[in-house]
Amino acid sequence: MRIETQKLNAMSAFAEGTTCRRRALLGYFGETLAQDCGNCDICLDPPQTYDATEDARKALSCVYRVGQRFGVGHVVEVLRGGRSERISKFGHEKLTTWGLGREQSNEYWSHLLKQLVHLGYLEQDMANYSVLKLTETARPLLRGEINLLLARARVKTEKKKKAPRRVVGLEYDEQLFQVLRARRKQIADRDAVPPYVVFGDATLAEMAASLPTKAEDFLLINGVGQRKMQRYGAAFMEEIINYISR
Ligand SMILES: [Zn+2]
Repeated sequence: MRIETQKLNAMSAFAEGTTCRRRALLGYFGETLAQDCGNCDICLDPPQTYDATEDARKALSCVYRVGQRFGVGHVVEVLRGGRSERISKFGHEKLTTWGLGREQSNEYWSHLLKQLVHLGYLEQDMANYSVLKLTETARPLLRGEINLLLARARVKTEKKKKAPRRVVGLEYDEQLFQVLRARRKQIADRDAVPPYVVFGDATLAEMAASLPTKAEDFLLINGVGQRKMQRYGAAFMEEIINYISR
């Protein structure tokens, strides 16, 4: 019973997650999903990503250094160079990872650790005070064999009409951009993939700026390769042609 309650607590944490909701949910039940579901709010409107490789390594090695015997709160404290009673009791201020993450906030590190749990690099031992442990998957990341791209935490804003992200230095037709986004959503739904798998916002913005109507022009856009050109080119050029001939 206690385990069940803790599972539920952990699940409430997934509400603030930035990985596919379904994937996160299944993760808590020890199941994995090969692909993102493509249908949840995160998949439909993916958050921005950043290269988290180095910070993930710091976090994972800190989990390892504290003996895989502590939960998120303590690991964050060690990373941030805290001086709590618990830290001195265990001599954790002597660890090489102590204070290694001082430049980032508590929120940043706990968000990162939660994402590492969601993605299966860490597991939380629900039956044992939610202690963090490394999984096999964490090894190549720790060894520097793979890189990790993570989602930035969403900044909670007042409910207002969402403005599309602007691409720095690029002037583009906003109305057309929205038309292209709608088309992308249709295609993503049809193919059961997240929208960014079709094209990212930056690519759509570039289309809305340069208005390609021929394959050769379409191919010049960042994020368009031969394969995507063949798969989606016609659909998006159709929208562009309709739009400019209105
Ligand atoms: Zn999803």
